[in-house]
Amino acid sequence: MAHDNERINDDLAAYWMPFTPNKGFKANPKLLVSADGLYYTTSDGRQVFDGSSGLWCCALGHNQPKIVEAIREQAGKLDYSTSFGYAHPGAFELANTLAARMPGDLNHIFYTNSGSESVETALKMALGYHRLRGEGERVRLVGRVGGYHGVGFGGISVGGMVNNRKFFGAMLPGVDHMPLPYDDTMRFSNGQPENGAHYADALEEILTLHDPSTVAAVIVEPAAGSAGVYVPPKGYLERLRAITKKHGILLIFDEVITAFGRLGYATASERFGVEPDIITTAKALNNGAVPMGAVAVHKDIYDGFMDNGGEGVEFFHGYTYSAHPLAVAAAQATQTLYDELDVYANVRALESYFGDALHTLGQTDTIVDVRNIGFMGALTFARIDDKPMSRSSQIFQKAYENGLKVRLSGDNIAIAPPLVSTKQDIDVLVERLQKTITEVG
Ligand code: PLP
Repeated sequence: MAHDNERINDDLAAYWMPFTPNKGFKANPKLLVSADGLYYTTSDGRQVFDGSSGLWCCALGHNQPKIVEAIREQAGKLDYSTSFGYAHPGAFELANTLAARMPGDLNHIFYTNSGSESVETALKMALGYHRLRGEGERVRLVGRVGGYHGVGFGGISVGGMVNNRKFFGAMLPGVDHMPLPYDDTMRFSNGQPENGAHYADALEEILTLHDPSTVAAVIVEPAAGSAGVYVPPKGYLERLRAITKKHGILLIFDEVITAFGRLGYATASERFGVEPDIITTAKALNNGAVPMGAVAVHKDIYDGFMDNGGEGVEFFHGYTYSAHPLAVAAAQATQTLYDELDVYANVRALESYFGDALHTLGQTDTIVDVRNIGFMGALTFARIDDKPMSRSSQIFQKAYENGLKVRLSGDNIAIAPPLVSTKQDIDVLVERLQKTITEVG
């Protein structure tokens, strides 16, 4: 019997690719062999505009010379040092740099290697913090439908994407989900939808059911990315903050996508003027050059661990590669460039140009929604014969053929240009997208 695998080139067979239809990919591979600035070069020698900033991470474009140099220099000086009981000076310098960019009193930094690890770390911090304060009955966590918080068991438990959950057992106990703050009245909003703050009231209902004293933390992406870019309605995050504060519940903003400029500010928290207790980051932290994440924590949480942890280890958690010297060097160089190039100001200046350009594509028979904020946006495509992803996956494929890399997420195509993009770059992106949409029909 002919088997799909027989079509797979032997050279591609060993690599089990993540979040990818392996058989389809290996039958028709998209191989990116090098990159420079805002473009990838494919194995067949074509230039592809990076309309997804790698995977929301390459904010400054690729192979930024100062980041490359920082990594090279660090590799020749100190390639690795453990962070368990030892440290290297760069880790402290970077923590100071990052703390200064975080809102209010979120001035302590814990290093991880990815967004998923940042989320697991934040959830454990929340549970541990309450226990150390004598509120060990606060064991429940609240996430959101459509939320993406990485692929650890904590992250998929508080997350709300069904395919990421359904294969993997019963999840963490004691987790509830609020609805995604989105409905048809918000379609084609350019920026934050005007109405929808009432979606935060679902939290009150969950708290009534379980009693607020049992809840440790609420985690949300301030602007949701992976599910297909969902922008918080005006007043929604403010209301979540008010409810959590009233009941002594920690609020975690998962800013793995939004931290470091995606919305024109160092954090979405700063953009929306809402201060959570913990912020998770990764991706643009070091331009995606070396795997890295970081968790920024309110001083009361840090102090809670320091004051109650006795003489020994205060937090039984960490990674072999926490504060990896190469990742730290790349992050310090990246953060310096954000300031020197005034990158966040570029996003603020061009946000409406980008948003307006996306909206010129919408309101057709095939595009049923356009959503955007900062330098992130998504188009939702109508299905062909009611088959999920039928049109969006054709757009994804055709865009690549037309020299544009985008992100496919269900019936959505997400777009996230590098934060240094100019008007001309945005024009290139939108022209290639328009051509693709016309060709797919
Ligand atoms: N949290 C959010 C909001 C994300 O968007 C992502 C990745 O897209 C993650 C967590 C997981 O990050 P990673 O893939 O680095 O583990």
